[in-house]
Amino acid sequence: MDHTIKEGFELQASQRYQFGNSKSAERKQYLKQLDRVIWANRQAICTALYKDLGKSEGEAMVSEVFVVLSELRHIKRNLSTWMLDQPIKNPIYMIGTQSRVRYESKGRVLIISPWNYPFLLSMAPLIGAIAAGNTVILKPSEFATHTSAIMRSILAEVFDSSMVQLYEGGPDVAQELLALPFEHMYFTGSTKVGRIVMECAAKHLSGLTLELGGKSPTLVSGKAHISKAASRIVFTKFFNNGQICVAPDYLLVHESILSEFLDQLKKEIQKLFGNRERSDYTRIVNEHHFDRLKGMLDSAQEGGAELLIGGESNRSELYMAPTVVLLKNPNHPLMEEEIFGPILPVLVYKELDEAVRLIHALPDSLASYIYTKDAREEAYFIEQTRSGGGVVNNGLIHLANYYLAFGGTRHSGMGRSKGWYSFMEFSNHRSIVKTSPYFSIVDLLGYPFTKWKLKIISLLSKWL
Ligand code: NAD
Repeated sequence: MDHTIKEGFELQASQRYQFGNSKSAERKQYLKQLDRVIWANRQAICTALYKDLGKSEGEAMVSEVFVVLSELRHIKRNLSTWMLDQPIKNPIYMIGTQSRVRYESKGRVLIISPWNYPFLLSMAPLIGAIAAGNTVILKPSEFATHTSAIMRSILAEVFDSSMVQLYEGGPDVAQELLALPFEHMYFTGSTKVGRIVMECAAKHLSGLTLELGGKSPTLVSGKAHISKAASRIVFTKFFNNGQICVAPDYLLVHESILSEFLDQLKKEIQKLFGNRERSDYTRIVNEHHFDRLKGMLDSAQEGGAELLIGGESNRSELYMAPTVVLLKNPNHPLMEEEIFGPILPVLVYKELDEAVRLIHALPDSLASYIYTKDAREEAYFIEQTRSGGGVVNNGLIHLANYYLAFGGTRHSGMGRSKGWYSFMEFSNHRSIVKTSPYFSIVDLLGYPFTKWKLKIISLLSKWL
């Protein structure tokens, strides 16, 4: 990059109205090219993800390349319709006027992304931002440098720097970018850094989307299909080595099925990850996170947690086996922070409302999951808890549906993304009313407030 961050930012200023007013054909052309270049580089993307995270080719293709391309194509197919002005009804006292919503670009968008899905979580918001007519400056995570390098080359092939730029670096680079008056900031990462980003956005009153994390509960009821629940929990917890924002963070298991469920869990872990050498078991991203997780596990055991499954680890290989621990009560260090790794604490409950109270004691989560065959339990759980999203009798898969919004609530984030919701998130919803240049009934309701006008106003106030 030849120019400084500030110069790069200024370079994008003129596009606010140029690209911002582009027709759908131009935007779709960019998306088409991006699609072509990503597809052509899919092998290089998988290699980069392997080097950064030890992600197997299968996992990289399914959870990063495929998800990005399917969402891109969905947006491309629908963009012309989404961009149309939306005609809006008028209340009766505005009869004769026309109202509409115009979806226009916000301007310059800053995207800051994390390392766990470094390709997906950079490209998906970028696609939404471009579809909505914005320019983008992307700051990927400093912990996934191979992926950043391949993204840089892909983006340079499709966009010039007045449209899209990528700056590599850590918090210092992010801070420099956050000091600039972007029209919108889109941050994916931890709740802790999300707070910093929000403060920076407040300085310029920039639009803000926060995609954060948290402790996503998973409840396994006494009425669950036990073996299915166990196999799905093992898959969704240890996929990407638990380094997923919506991974089941802890389990609440009904006492009546505890021992049968734990037996099944053990069998499933053995079946999927029993062989330590398996190349498709993703590793922990770096030593820092390995030490954090190892520290968590050690202090959990010191705090009285019973190690049920796993526990083996090797720092030089950044390896930690799928690990399950039983907690005697929820007042435990493992229940304080998001785990974001292959450790799964289990708590036992007797009554559903007791489990719900425990969930209430923690901040609203990004996802929540329940395994049950009982419709009343399912309804009770959904009604009595709050989270950004959720799944019944499975985990994670709500992310795969690009017709559904993705996002959190309070500590787990704000704003929505995916498909149409991304287009909406990156658009300014401008409300426009048009009246006749000659006569409008609304004119009658203004000054001077004569007696008969007041009469009409009081009649309207009574009727409407
Ligand atoms: P992180 O918050 O440490 O870092 C995210 C980004 O912020 C990185 O690009 C990093 O360089 C930057 N950053 C770090 N410190 C900063 C600072 N002081 N000022 C400005 N920028 C800073 O998160 P991470 O470790 O990369 O990712 C893990 C977290 O992300 C987890 O909490 C996880 O739940 C969350 N996450 C959320 C989603 C989602 O869609 N909601 C998806 C993936 C990950």
